[in-house]
Amino acid sequence: MPSKHFYITTPIYYVNDIPHIGHSYTTIAADVISRYKRMCGYDVFFCTGTDEHGQKIQRSALEKGMTAIELADKTVENFKSLWKVLNISNDDFIRTTEQRHEITVKQIFERLMSQGDIYKGTYEGWYCVPCETYVPESSMGDGKTCPDCGRPLEKMTEESYFLRISKYEKDLLDYYEHNLKSIMPRTRYNEIVSFIRGGLRDQSISRTSIKWGIPVPGDEEHVIYVWFDALINYLTVCGYPDGDFMNRYWPEARHFVGKDIIRFHCVVWPIMLIALGINPPVTVFAHGWWTFEGEKMSKSKGNVVDPFEMADLYGVDAFRYFLLREVPFGLDGDFSEMAMVQRINSDLANDLGNLLNRTLQMIKGYRENVVPSATTLEDLDLEIKTTMELTLKEVETNMDSFAFDEVLKTIWSLISRGNKYIDQTMPWKLGREGNLERLDTVLAVLYEILSVSCLLIAPFMPETAEKMWIQLGQEGKPLEQNLAEYKWGSQMKNATVNKGNILFPRIDMDKWKKEKEERDMSKGIITDPGDHEEEVEIDYFKNLEMRVAQIVSIEGIPKANKLYKIGIDLGYEKRTIVSGLKENFSEEELLGKKIIVVCNLKPAKLRGVLSNGMLLAASPKGKEELALLTPDRDIPLGSRVS
Ligand SMILES: [Zn+2]
Repeated sequence: MPSKHFYITTPIYYVNDIPHIGHSYTTIAADVISRYKRMCGYDVFFCTGTDEHGQKIQRSALEKGMTAIELADKTVENFKSLWKVLNISNDDFIRTTEQRHEITVKQIFERLMSQGDIYKGTYEGWYCVPCETYVPESSMGDGKTCPDCGRPLEKMTEESYFLRISKYEKDLLDYYEHNLKSIMPRTRYNEIVSFIRGGLRDQSISRTSIKWGIPVPGDEEHVIYVWFDALINYLTVCGYPDGDFMNRYWPEARHFVGKDIIRFHCVVWPIMLIALGINPPVTVFAHGWWTFEGEKMSKSKGNVVDPFEMADLYGVDAFRYFLLREVPFGLDGDFSEMAMVQRINSDLANDLGNLLNRTLQMIKGYRENVVPSATTLEDLDLEIKTTMELTLKEVETNMDSFAFDEVLKTIWSLISRGNKYIDQTMPWKLGREGNLERLDTVLAVLYEILSVSCLLIAPFMPETAEKMWIQLGQEGKPLEQNLAEYKWGSQMKNATVNKGNILFPRIDMDKWKKEKEERDMSKGIITDPGDHEEEVEIDYFKNLEMRVAQIVSIEGIPKANKLYKIGIDLGYEKRTIVSGLKENFSEEELLGKKIIVVCNLKPAKLRGVLSNGMLLAASPKGKEELALLTPDRDIPLGSRVS
């Protein structure tokens, strides 16, 4: 049993959510660090799971005519199957509806109650049902809406148990002042510390309005608040209050969370722990959010990245690589399929793929697949050796600060160095000249670069590394190797290489674009905007006099199937315009609508009617649909559009 331990968790995900890129991101990151630490000889405990209590699932089950647990049993499979697809190596999967968890939660509640850290009071506040949280008046949105989801809040008053957060304010500040890495990145640390300095209020931790949850011991009218319940999962999996796992793993606990749930993890949770006499986790790392091609992802926009689809289209390893390479772990990132395809082509097919293919091809050609040994290392070779040793160190440092993008950049600069080394040493020339001793050394150095690269990419791309390992003719699996024991030359023991299939075939961009367009069209998204107009000066635009008008009358025009004769009111005058809306709008739909009209267009006669202006409407390329442009709030008629 190794003496070094490492405990990493993802948040437990809300069981009724459709797994998306955010869930995938946190879980892949936790998987990468777990695999890496195992390779460094750590005894790793990696947990994920699902949060299954609360009002949302209760309601959702009711709508579907199921019990809450039936719904949870069904939807938990969405997560379990995604983790299988994404090759996640978690050691435990906890569901908050499990008995082991209920026992732990009750035990902790009772203990905090008996020592006076939980008391009974009344709670009144504005509550967001979907987010399951009370919103303080200071952060409510316009019209008493939730600042997170924008939905209307409900006023609730209830008897509630409270956690005595305020009592531990000073202890927590003290803890953070002495543990600067307990919240990462630094911006989040500062954010939390200043939040605590602003003063903490006791947290309501029970509900009488909800039935689906763990009952308060001895007061079954109350159900334990879902956050209090959920956070405890990190202790449940360790077998709290005692036992081997608590001793081994808890002192090495690290939580990966999205930046939206950092207050629960960095204020409520550590206070619960301090009250229980347990040290807070070593680090809570808050990562950023993903947008999609520049926009916030939302189901209604149809721009949610489906991780199953991405893994299916591009391969699990390419998806894992892209997510961690593209954006620093603590910052927000933008997901674009185009960017992913470009990375596959440049980093994976080109840099990594070429180094492997060229090297194995030469070992095959010059050495009948047997890896030669290096003889005399020249300066250039020694420089590679130094680079490699530095790479291993840098990877270690950056892994420890969860800078996954930096880790990958470092590995890829070694790979690029390898490709450059081929160009510098020109092995084909050495072969032609019969300088076989030098050729052997060059091939051995290249083989060494590949072996180390293979080991270092293994936590990120386990399947790819395994395929590479086989091609390199190594025994066992790359993830079973101990990185700490790695020494220059240790791989070059007359291995026999097996040049195999290309790891990442190049994606043909033209073909890809066409297929992507077809996929998007089938999802109702237009990616091809059609022809663009030439750029114009601002004055050109200013010449158009556009104003807000209201439709005040409508009639058909004899023998014109598409046209309406529309009376509009501009406030300062009334006009008639003719417009081709008849196939898309009924008269009732249009009457009274406020629209945008180009007023200084030369009048034109259409089917005998003089049209004095033109209204603005949008339509997707190649489709019959139409949408009218209307002002988004009340504004006087005749207002200029600019
Ligand atoms: Zn909300």
